[in-house]
Amino acid sequence: MPALEPILASYRDRVTVRRSGTPTGSCVVYWMQRAQRAHDNPALDLAVDLANALRLPLVVFFGLIPYPGANLRHYAFLQQALPDTARRLAARNIAFVIQRHPQSDLAAFCSQTDAALLVGDENPLREPAHWRTVLAKKLRIPYFTVDADVVVPSRLLLKAQYAARTIRPRLQALFADYLVPCANPHAEVAFPNPPSSLDPASDLTAPWPSLDRTVPPLSTFTAGTTAALDLLHHFVTHRLATYPMLQGDPAADATSRLSPYLHFGHISPLTIALAVRNADAPDLAKEKYLDQLITWRELAINFVAFHPLYDSFECAEPWAHRSLAAHASDPRPTLYTLPQLEAADTHDHLWNAAQLQMLHLGWMHNYMRMYWAKKILEWSPSPQQAYHSALYLNDKYFLDGRDPNGYAGIAWSIAGKFDRPWFDRPIFGVIRYMSGTAAARKFDAPAYIRSMYALAHRPL
Ligand SMILES: Cc1cc2nc3c(=O)[nH]c(=O)nc-3n(C[C@H](O)[C@H](O)[C@H](O)COP(=O)(O)OP(=O)(O)OC[C@H]3O[C@@H](n4cnc5c(N)ncnc54)[C@H](O)[C@@H]3O)c2cc1C
Repeated sequence: MPALEPILASYRDRVTVRRSGTPTGSCVVYWMQRAQRAHDNPALDLAVDLANALRLPLVVFFGLIPYPGANLRHYAFLQQALPDTARRLAARNIAFVIQRHPQSDLAAFCSQTDAALLVGDENPLREPAHWRTVLAKKLRIPYFTVDADVVVPSRLLLKAQYAARTIRPRLQALFADYLVPCANPHAEVAFPNPPSSLDPASDLTAPWPSLDRTVPPLSTFTAGTTAALDLLHHFVTHRLATYPMLQGDPAADATSRLSPYLHFGHISPLTIALAVRNADAPDLAKEKYLDQLITWRELAINFVAFHPLYDSFECAEPWAHRSLAAHASDPRPTLYTLPQLEAADTHDHLWNAAQLQMLHLGWMHNYMRMYWAKKILEWSPSPQQAYHSALYLNDKYFLDGRDPNGYAGIAWSIAGKFDRPWFDRPIFGVIRYMSGTAAARKFDAPAYIRSMYALAHRPL
């Protein structure tokens, strides 16, 4: 039996041993959950290394199962990427087995295939964390997980971080060790298996009556690693240099729009970070972009990992709770119901435009996401109701919804998380306010409004 410890140790702080033991069996299984890619995926790379050391084939298991809040829009995007992933896995001699709801059962699969060990990727959200715990109790084989979707392994941050300014230096101090290419990202499996069971191009959700099909799929983003790499190349070549100037302008197509691909793990943050760092662009542009991609994104992941109430108004800082409570009975001259908000049916064309972008593009510019959430606070009967409405819409319509970034973004906008107290004002208390007038001074709001109304075929 070859020693596996040196292989595990070479992945440093990314690996967690969920169940130890001696691997005996006929194959290695990698449970692909969050890192849905065959490229720059340290969880997959670890599985390849272990399979080769044990002289066993490697099978990637992908189970399509119900996820809270996910609907047809999300599953259509997820499915669209699978043929691309299957091709890329085949190029590395890796078998790809897809099981669909309700037959999907990883523990049963491991025993049917006589798995010697299981490798999984990590996801800090509540539901997948629960799946990992349950699975570790059911399994009788070694089970390792890999923190594959961050630049700096989350555990090295040790505790909850309270602001971008506290996490930034900690992350940057670790770049020399972790902002480096994967050791052997194209390594092939030496002892291949027969190929996949289900056709990755088939409609895997067809026999699934309980799936919410009311939110239609989109043609605005093409899913998968190949599409993500193309978008990255375009961004780095044509947009990165102007990112610091135009990043805050919702009317300009100046950001990378990679968030749906990061959410589904079609691309690694490391792939993006290295492409940006090596780009022919001013240092300021690289720094600004990497700050969004690494500081803000990994702050959101840290928030979710350390805060059990990450998707609840209760996550607010004490100063925010106190201030919003003190303004709970303030008159609210403008109130909208959730159906009115959902239908983009308010008096504010700028807000409606943002909501239309969400409905019809499945994505929204960062500045508009902040404005959008803050207006929901202003127009709701209570901060708790505002929180609920913002989360509901965010996770229902965004392709990148149900993500740590969304939970942190809503917490920032409505509950003051990672922000500081501002001037006291009605309804908001000391939560930072954003006005439509200020937005109009900052960018060409009429152009943004026109373009989003046109996207939705709605007359102005
Ligand atoms: C109310 C609100 C809700 C949000 N909901 C989501 C969501 O559901 N899913 C989601 O992925 N992001 C969310 N964000 C964060 C941010 O708006 C998006 O990540 C960003 O707009 C995605 O566009 P992009 O890929 O072009 O970003 P770019 O500007 O190209 O940035 C590159 C990457 O950096 C990360 N990033 C950028 N801005 C932020 C930020 N403020 N916080 C954390 N990470 C960031 C993202 O991963 C992004 O893809 C939300 C922000 C707010 C204020």
